Amino acid sequence: MKRQITISMNIGFCSGVRRAIEKAQTAAAQFGKVAMLGEIVHNEKVVQQLEEKGVHVYRSLAKIEKGTPVIFRSHGTPPAVWKEARRRDLTIIDATCPLVKKIHDAVRELENEGRQIVIIGDHNHEEVEGIASQVRAAKVIASADEAKSMPMTSKIGVVIQSTQDIFNVKEIVAVLLTKTNDLHVVNTICKPTRERQEQIRRLASENEVMIIIGSTSSANTNRLTTLARAINPNTYQIADSTELQAEWFKNVQTVGVSTGASTPDELVEAVVEKINEFP
Ligand code: SF4
Repeated sequence: MKRQITISMNIGFCSGVRRAIEKAQTAAAQFGKVAMLGEIVHNEKVVQQLEEKGVHVYRSLAKIEKGTPVIFRSHGTPPAVWKEARRRDLTIIDATCPLVKKIHDAVRELENEGRQIVIIGDHNHEEVEGIASQVRAAKVIASADEAKSMPMTSKIGVVIQSTQDIFNVKEIVAVLLTKTNDLHVVNTICKPTRERQEQIRRLASENEVMIIIGSTSSANTNRLTTLARAINPNTYQIADSTELQAEWFKNVQTVGVSTGASTPDELVEAVVEKINEFP
């Protein structure tokens, strides 16, 4: 059955992830083997493909053999890890996204203004930990409920994890306004994320079914699914085309498709083909 399938304009890797993957591939071609400190993206297939090209994931610097260059990922890497890599005399390939570096600059500036730092973001996420590591003390807040437990504070400075949903941020900021008379918020949600979110909102409202492609281990993909599902309950997140189910498309004429920022865009074609095959 030929359905009307609309693919979001922004699909596949965001510019930061694409840049990091290109750097990793170039380094592997040059050095034969390179170490990646943690996974470059939260996507098992991409990690596996890179592994085949000589990019191997390590959990700590201690395990990286001398002479093997190390890639620091797009999410950003804490200064202590930089220091340790230099101490070990490792060749560092810095793939930190320039937009993440801007968040680091912003949070340090806010600290220099003498503010209590709040990072709106996911607990235990590498990007958030990287931002927190730029300053002496930072409080991570993931929801408006968490913000309610903040004490009254004279000066608060806020930065935001690059992939946060603006509506969640607005709710948190509204609570923070009740906790201080001096609030400085730097909107550090990155442009690629904002554009992707806007397109997904539109597609979710204009189509009967919405498909988001991406691993459930990717926080940004899960957030995009939540965002789409709030508008359209017939939203499904799949890792790839094999997870599509015929019953989702019964009597359905219009489908919107998008992906997380860590999903390779080549997965989209197979998804579109399979959706068209369903009766
Ligand atoms: S989501 Fe935005 S800030 Fe994060 S790596 Fe991608 S482009 Fe950079």
